[in-house]
Amino acid sequence: MDLLQFAPMSTPILSVAEAQQRIVGQVRPLPPKTMPLTSQALGLVLAEDVASDLDMPPFDKAMMDGYAVRSADVPDAGAELAVIEEVTAGRVPRLTVGPGQATRIMTGAPIPSGADAVVMIERTQAVDGRRVRLEGGVKPGQNVLVRGKEMTRGAVVLRAGARLRPQELGLLALVGRTRARVQPAPSVAILPTGDEIVEPGEKPGPGQIRNSNGPMLAAQTTRAGGVPKLLGIARDTEESLRGLIGEGLGEDVLVLSGGVSAGKLDLVPSVLADLGVRVDFHKVAMKPGKPMLFGVKDHGGRRPATLVFGLPGNPVSGLVCFELFVRPAIRGLMALPPGPVVVQATLTEDHAYRTDRPTYHPARLESTDAGWRVQAVPWFGSADLRGVTPANAFVLLPAGDHQHRAGDVLPVLMVEDMAACGLAFA
Ligand code: AMP
Ligand code: MG
Repeated sequence: MDLLQFAPMSTPILSVAEAQQRIVGQVRPLPPKTMPLTSQALGLVLAEDVASDLDMPPFDKAMMDGYAVRSADVPDAGAELAVIEEVTAGRVPRLTVGPGQATRIMTGAPIPSGADAVVMIERTQAVDGRRVRLEGGVKPGQNVLVRGKEMTRGAVVLRAGARLRPQELGLLALVGRTRARVQPAPSVAILPTGDEIVEPGEKPGPGQIRNSNGPMLAAQTTRAGGVPKLLGIARDTEESLRGLIGEGLGEDVLVLSGGVSAGKLDLVPSVLADLGVRVDFHKVAMKPGKPMLFGVKDHGGRRPATLVFGLPGNPVSGLVCFELFVRPAIRGLMALPPGPVVVQATLTEDHAYRTDRPTYHPARLESTDAGWRVQAVPWFGSADLRGVTPANAFVLLPAGDHQHRAGDVLPVLMVEDMAACGLAFA
């Protein structure tokens, strides 16, 4: 008899940090792909060096509206010059600026030959249509950006590893790229499980509850940079779980919700094992979210392994476990720093709390002149999704019977883009 087969769930209970290390330690960036550089590429990591195909600017360029002149023609006392031509952006000058001459020029237009400076329009006065009076003090090169100053043809302008923000996408367009090799966004299958779960459009009957986790986890996936794929709802039967989990193992990541605790119909761990998923851990010392499971399904080298996350069914457990464990994995697959971001914040109100495990309590985090400030919000536990909506973060309360006092400093898990608060969401 194979004793191992009858061994109880044997993986040890890990701390959040240990669990995160084990996940991140197994995540490798996905193979790069060539993709169109539309806004779909926003946030992805470039997987090749990109060189410019032209000098930038491609010609000596006026940086101001005004007059292109020979600087030697304009002494400190100023001068009056003959206007020989007008050049707007997109046009090229035809005439050479000779002694005593000037060309009316607009920002972005090429500097005519002969000229070596631009006098801004505010420092000039048209005498009549053909002559202009200029204030003095013009230096050679003034208001002129010389050809190739920003970049030269063949020079690398972005290196592999650069994150594609709007300015990088603009730069790639500037150097003529419409496609590039990037680290693709992982596909993330989302599979809520439970006999009691009904779709949001339905009215729950006795004992039933609507599927809040599907839409929530899909939105968290998008926010983390992944591409969600909703698989529907699996029932608490081996047959239903098998079919849908099998489908989910076709994606880069599979996120299950429910069915991972020790209840009678919590069949997810055994079905995962049957389908060849190697369970790495099952249980983390935290609240909410203790029965959290992580496993890996290898595909024999044919394609990257599928990372499998079994999140507890209670919505707030799912929400927190996703941010702590799934998001770092998605980011690792995209070759981004995994996060999550934790800041130290000062509690603004007393908060008595008793808990047997480190607890992520919904909280309101704020950036002030005196640093981060945090306040726990009223909350009725892991099923209470409503209580989480006034929150924008989770304050980490240590295990034990604690009287947390206003002024105490506690770690806070950020789950939102806090750019508006002065800190980029790494
Ligand atoms: P479980 O982890 O399957 O034992 O589920 C724990 C609790 O979460 C139960 O009260 C479930 O009804 C609830 N739950 C499970 N899945 C969902 C879901 N997709 N949406 C909302 N609640 C859920
Ligand atoms: Mg269940």
